Amino acid sequence: MKLLTTSGLFAADGGAGEPAYALTAASRLLVGPLGLGSIVRYQAGPVNVTPFFDMPAWLRATDGPQQSLFELTHGRSRWDPANPDSSTMQDAAFAESQFLIDALLRNHGHIFHGLTSLVDVGGGHGSLARAIAAMFPSIRCTVMDLAHVVADAPAIAGGNVQFVAGNMFESIPSADAVLLKYVLHCWSDDDCVKILRNCKNAIPSTRAAGGKVIITVMVSGSGSRDGNASETEQMHSLFVTGIGGIGREEQEWKKIFCDAGFSDYKMTQDMGPVSVIEIFP
Ligand code: SAH
Repeated sequence: MKLLTTSGLFAADGGAGEPAYALTAASRLLVGPLGLGSIVRYQAGPVNVTPFFDMPAWLRATDGPQQSLFELTHGRSRWDPANPDSSTMQDAAFAESQFLIDALLRNHGHIFHGLTSLVDVGGGHGSLARAIAAMFPSIRCTVMDLAHVVADAPAIAGGNVQFVAGNMFESIPSADAVLLKYVLHCWSDDDCVKILRNCKNAIPSTRAAGGKVIITVMVSGSGSRDGNASETEQMHSLFVTGIGGIGREEQEWKKIFCDAGFSDYKMTQDMGPVSVIEIFP
């Protein structure tokens, strides 16, 4: 407990005798109604942490098929249902989405105006799609994810959210807009281009007809330059590198959008380290 007070997770009263501990703003996020503790359980869990001990071997392995650090350690991809923390990962994604949804819909609600349909690709258990559908009842929302994720998704009451099992590298159901929240940073440049080309095939072919892809992702080097932001950015880059992804700067994202055949994009960063990017055909 004393150690955790030094990192600001608990506050201790300074009186003599037995110290009394209290929650701080940080620990309230973990145990309060937001329940962000599941993110710590997932990210700091052994499945995620063990690969980093293999980093020297991974850095030396310059020949042979390219595999991520995670694959080197576990012999399977981050998205394989055999990973023992698969459901912890979905709980973490769900909690994180709950946390972000308010800010996303409050600051960026306008990006959903006028849409009649939307596919949330890699949408997990559908927390974001549910919030969008509740706020915009005229948008039909489809959550697409891998079969084992969709099979475990909680049942949703109400008509305008449906789940579809699929593979974004094969095809994506048609809609006015495709949403990719925290998906692209997990993949190489080539894979991002493949995913985005499939998104482009799923939406109307022109911006005037309403077609767009909405991405939320961390963009390195943008936004606040304070110490916390830089640390978050570097931790994020390290983490995504471990699973075969890349932390990218705006110019690197821009190149991927162009290579996938998009003509323009609009990036807004007003939610801490997270950017919202609309890309247009
Ligand atoms: N969008 C959610 C989850 C992001 S994690 C959120 O922001 O909380 C990335 C998601 O991509 C996971 O749910 C994972 O199961 C899904 N995914 C991975 N590979 C996929 C594929 N080939 N096709 C569709 N979804 C995939």
